[in-house]
Amino acid sequence: MSFSTLGLSTPILDALKEQGYTNPTPIQAQAIPAIMAGKDVMAAAQTGTGKTAGFTLPILERLAAGKPAGANQARALILTPTRELAAQVAESVATYSKGMKLSSTVVFGGVKINPQMMKLRRGVDILVATPGRLMDLYNQNAVKFSNLEVLVLDEADRMLDMGFIHDIKKILKILPPKRQNLLFSATFSNDIRKLARGLVNNPVEISVSPPNAAAPSVEQKVYKVEKAQKPALLVQLIKDNNWFQVLVFTKTKHGANKLTQQIEASGFKAAAIHGNKSQGARTKALAGFKDGSIQILVATDIAARGLDIDQLPQVVNYELPNVAEDYVHRIGRTGRAGSTGHAISLVAEEEVKLLRGIERLIKKTLEVASLPDFKPLAKMPARSKSNAQPKPPAGRKPLARKPKPKNPTARKPATKADN
Ligand code: AMP
Repeated sequence: MSFSTLGLSTPILDALKEQGYTNPTPIQAQAIPAIMAGKDVMAAAQTGTGKTAGFTLPILERLAAGKPAGANQARALILTPTRELAAQVAESVATYSKGMKLSSTVVFGGVKINPQMMKLRRGVDILVATPGRLMDLYNQNAVKFSNLEVLVLDEADRMLDMGFIHDIKKILKILPPKRQNLLFSATFSNDIRKLARGLVNNPVEISVSPPNAAAPSVEQKVYKVEKAQKPALLVQLIKDNNWFQVLVFTKTKHGANKLTQQIEASGFKAAAIHGNKSQGARTKALAGFKDGSIQILVATDIAARGLDIDQLPQVVNYELPNVAEDYVHRIGRTGRAGSTGHAISLVAEEEVKLLRGIERLIKKTLEVASLPDFKPLAKMPARSKSNAQPKPPAGRKPLARKPKPKNPTARKPATKADN
C-alpha cells in the first residue's frame, strides 16, 4: 500500500516523500482512512509505530478543507503528557504541513507564558499542548475553543499515570460537544476505557501491537549484580561494547544526577534528563544526545517518555522500574522502525522480584549474562523462573497471595510538575 491510495493530497504526499517515507505503517494504514471519514478513533499504539503521522495527516486534510482559525481560536487540539512529546509532535505537524496554509504552535509549562499568548493571538489551526499550561492559557483568555473541530489525546495512558485526569476533565468541559475525538494510548487499560466512555462516540478501535508485548526486535539481557557495583559494571559495558549512544534509565532524579557524575568521572560524555531540569537543559541534553556529542543520556521514566530518537541502539535499565509496564515502554526506545535494538537490565538482589513481575508481563524469561569481575552475591538466584511460582520451603504452607491493588499502574501525580 502506498500513501497515495489513502487519498492524501499532493502537499502532504510531497512532505512524506521528502521525509523518505514510502509506505504507511500499520497504524497509519488503519487510522488515516477512519479519521478522514470523520470517525472517532481509539488506537492502541506505542511511540515508534508512526502514530503521530497516523493522526496528524488526516487532521491536516480535514483542516485544509475548512476556514482558517479566528483570533485566539484553535481548530485542532493535540494534548500530550510531556513537554518533550509536545515539542516532537509539533515538529512533526510543522514538517507534514510544510506545503499547506495551516498554522500550528506548541505550548507547555516550564517556559514563559507571554510568548505563547502572543502566538495564540491570531489563532492557530493546530495547537499542541500539555494539559497544565493549556488550562493556564485558557484561564487567561489566551485561547478559545468555540471553533474546535478535533481533539487528540496522545499517550493517554501516561496522562492518567501522571495525574492529569482532573485537567483533562476540565478541558473536556470547555470544548464544544460536537467534535472529532482521537484517543491514542499504549494500552487500553480499564482506566483508559473509563476515560474513553466520556470522550469518544462509537469509535473505530485500532490496535497495532499486542498490548504489553515487547517489540520482538529488541534483544534483552539481564546482569545480576550487587547494587554498589552497578556504576562500575555500566562503565565496563560501555567500554567493552563501544556503545556510542545509550539511554540509561534510573528510578529517581537524584539517582540520574549521581550516575551522570559517576559516568563522567570515567571519561564519558553524559547528561541527565528529568523533571527538575530546566526546559533549556533538557532540550540541550537531547540535542547533544542526538548529534553524538553526548554519548550517554541518563533519564527518569517520565522524562524519557515519548523521546523520538531514531534507531537508538542501546537501552540500559540501571534500575528496574516499579511498574512492570514501564519496562516495556523503556525498551520500546530501542529496536524501532525495523532495526534491532538491545536492552540490558542491571538487577540487584532486591530487584529480583521486580524482574519476575516484568518476565510475567512480557511472558518471557530474560537471558542472564555476566562479566567475570562482576559476580552477584552467592545467595542471589542465578536465574529467575519467570513463569513458575516460587516454591515454599518444605513443610510450610504457601502464603496467601496479596490482593491485587485496584490500579497497579497508578503512581504519585508529583510528576505533573513536569508540565
Ligand atoms: P511515532 O510513533 O509517531 O513517534 O513515529 C516514530 C518514527 O517513525 C518517527 O521518527 C517518524 O518520523 C517515523 N515514521 C512515521 N511514519 C513513517 C513511515 N510511514 N515510514 C517510515 N518512518 C515513519
